[in-house]
Amino acid sequence: MTEDNSQELYDRALSVMPGGVNSAVRAAIEPYPFFVRKGEGGHVIDADGNRYIDWVMGLGPLLLGHDLPEPVQASIQQKASEGPMYGTPTPVEVDLAEFVVRHVPSVEKIRFVNSGTEATVSAVRLARGYTGRNKVVVMQGGYHGAQESTLVEGDAENPRPSSAGIPQSFAEHTLPVPFNDEDAIREVFDEHGDDIAAVLTEPILGNYGIVYPEDGYHEFLREITDEHGSLLIFDEVITGFRVGGLGCAQSEFGVTPDLTTFGKIIGGGFPVGAIGGRAEIVEHFTPSGDVFQAGTFSGHPVTMAAGLETLQFAAANDVYDHVNGLGERLRSGLTDILADQAPSYTVTGTDSMFKVIFTREGPSGVQRTPEDASGDDREQGPDSLEEQCEAGCRQNATCPRYDYCPKNAADVKNAETERWRRIFWGRMKDQDVFLSQNQFECQFVSYGHTEEDVEKTLEAYKEAL
Ligand SMILES: *Cc1c(COP(=O)(O)O)cnc(C)c1O
Repeated sequence: MTEDNSQELYDRALSVMPGGVNSAVRAAIEPYPFFVRKGEGGHVIDADGNRYIDWVMGLGPLLLGHDLPEPVQASIQQKASEGPMYGTPTPVEVDLAEFVVRHVPSVEKIRFVNSGTEATVSAVRLARGYTGRNKVVVMQGGYHGAQESTLVEGDAENPRPSSAGIPQSFAEHTLPVPFNDEDAIREVFDEHGDDIAAVLTEPILGNYGIVYPEDGYHEFLREITDEHGSLLIFDEVITGFRVGGLGCAQSEFGVTPDLTTFGKIIGGGFPVGAIGGRAEIVEHFTPSGDVFQAGTFSGHPVTMAAGLETLQFAAANDVYDHVNGLGERLRSGLTDILADQAPSYTVTGTDSMFKVIFTREGPSGVQRTPEDASGDDREQGPDSLEEQCEAGCRQNATCPRYDYCPKNAADVKNAETERWRRIFWGRMKDQDVFLSQNQFECQFVSYGHTEEDVEKTLEAYKEAL
């Protein structure tokens, strides 16, 4: 496998772009990322002609894979050929808005923007404007894009910016808590209840190894926010139109947020974001309300057409059956492989999302290899993996792995993240399997993937683990 062209391109890129990339995570691949020339179905082909099975899928937007079905392609090309945009409304944005409102019960009105980041920025501003309060509760390890209010680390007592360039005085309004921890939420509401504008969370942590909520967690968030007059915002930028099909993750969990942010799939592979929710709240955006919100490219006709045709195609075809079926096959195959080769590791994900988290401990204190476990004086847990979640951790309290499965960001961070990135990722790439850049980013099944892609990938995991 040669990579001369990618190396040459990265060399040029380093001279003209910071870190050689336009989005930080892309440079996580060492020594340099491969440059993609084109996609085909569930595969990508790089600048040197190497072909990979692609489970990154643009980091989420590509539900249909790289070959867009004919009606999707036709609509995109037509919109592009009619002049890209106008600065005045177009019919297709009304069609897409109606589609979302019809399928996502909590969404009565929606505003389209140009990225997931822009969606969460606007949702936080809207929540603050609507409630007249400043504070926002977020989950440690949750990701809501590159924005000031959520690039915050630490805990509710000591929040601090997680990036240079953000004033401490901004971070003070953000209260980070561990995911799946009801007591931590109770504490922040006891302390700051009257000042909390919103709890902002991904329904499933999708940017930190995939962490599933414990049973009842979202119901609890719904109740406590209602009690205190705060809003519940679901960031469904990843899960929207992926988990729970066209009803999104909120339909899967049966919890109705006040606001939902969308991105990724809703633009069919083009730059997009959206904020939807109760009409009475969303109407607070300008011009009907006083929370300023605007964008030159918002509701871009090419994006709207790509999003609409993608979702209509998914509604009319077996897209969710296909991607969720292959996702299940991958996760259960991985569960079997881990039971043999790495019993301390955890398979996570649901629907068409999957990941293996390199957790260090499992039932019986089992570690990856017997050598690692020797001399270990950890208390022995249950010594069988029988009846564990078969196809991805569901935080099932009766599962023998329950005490060892990652419940929050700290648990994922404790995993063998360096082994994942520096050893395992390259071993998969050498077998022509492209996984996400590190332990934290999610992996996605698309409509372009096949049974054969899944089988080859499972074989590669067997070799690489
Ligand atoms: C990707 C992502 C974002 C940011 O979206 P961008 O389009 O990259 O700005 C926000 N929230 C979640 C949950 C995401 O996965």
